Amino acid sequence: MQMQSKMKALVTYGAHDYRYEEVDRPTAGEGEMIIKVEGCGICAGDLKAYHGGSVFWGDEGSPPYLEVPAIGGHEFTGRIVEMGSGTERKETYGTADSSFKVGDRVAVEQITPCGACRYCEEGRYHLCVPHNVYGFKYYLNGGFAEYAKLTKESLVYKIPEDMPLEQALLIEPYACSLHAVGRAAPGTDDIVVISGAGCLGLGMITAARKRNPKCLVALDLNEERLEKAREFGCDVTINPLRENLKEKMMDMTDGYGCDVYIEATGHPSSVKQGLDIICKGGRFIEFSLFLEPVTCDWSVIGDGKELDMYGVSLSHRCFPETIEGLYTGELKSEGVVSHKFALEDYEAAFEQSAKGNGSIKVVFTFE
Ligand SMILES: [Zn+2]
Ligand SMILES: [Zn+2]
Repeated sequence: MQMQSKMKALVTYGAHDYRYEEVDRPTAGEGEMIIKVEGCGICAGDLKAYHGGSVFWGDEGSPPYLEVPAIGGHEFTGRIVEMGSGTERKETYGTADSSFKVGDRVAVEQITPCGACRYCEEGRYHLCVPHNVYGFKYYLNGGFAEYAKLTKESLVYKIPEDMPLEQALLIEPYACSLHAVGRAAPGTDDIVVISGAGCLGLGMITAARKRNPKCLVALDLNEERLEKAREFGCDVTINPLRENLKEKMMDMTDGYGCDVYIEATGHPSSVKQGLDIICKGGRFIEFSLFLEPVTCDWSVIGDGKELDMYGVSLSHRCFPETIEGLYTGELKSEGVVSHKFALEDYEAAFEQSAKGNGSIKVVFTFE
């Protein structure tokens, strides 16, 4: 009898209850692949789950999204070490070459679409009803482990051999950023404000720069991030703690306000702030995940300003362009991965990631 091989993993049992332990290494069944994980980013979502946000753990009105015990992490890449039958080719979106073999280096989309619901049939797989995202379900373990199983439904993409790990680990978040900018669709006459210059905001900044808006503005409370925002192509950066944002925006726009506002902070105050500085008929793009419900004056959206409100979820069909953009450098990424940790140092990693100060993207690596 063959011994079941083991691997190290960070397993979620509950909020604040994460354990670094030895678990069974997954094996590939039909339509499945096993990858040796090379690294996995810590997402704001992972952090919010760690800290017990009701979006993940449920409340009186809604059941928990997390189904534990689960191995967290959805921003991972790795190398194929085992393939089940029928995985030589996998359908993915927007890539000419979707043939795979052992040894290939790959990235995987965070969602594993069911393929059967209305949204999947329409090709809007990111809205899939079961909405199974890596790292939140015991049956869909993520990249906080030495090995991960890519399921039959997974959307897998090959990545260049010589792509630095720091770039590769930004594929998933930057693909979400790209999707947000796609929804915002800024034109060359638009004054675009991106609120929040963390990893996702910076991804939006570098993606929005390519569309050449009339003026690209970043807001953040952290000066280092604002400096990065300028480096990535922002024309103007504003720290709302130090400057009068409203006054400055109105000065810049002849009193009208910005045309596009992308909310990427996850702080309720940034929603209110956006409604305040956006022009009439403007486009408001909501990207963040909030720990708790946000309240604001909805009259502003209708009678007040007749705004177009756009939500953004995940990274619909954005992986190929993101991989290409990161690899060619068209999407700037220098210095975004700011800290690397070994998986066993997960407490320090989560702490660093939560601090925000001095760190942008914290990742686990298995090198
Ligand atoms: Zn993420
Ligand atoms: Zn579906």
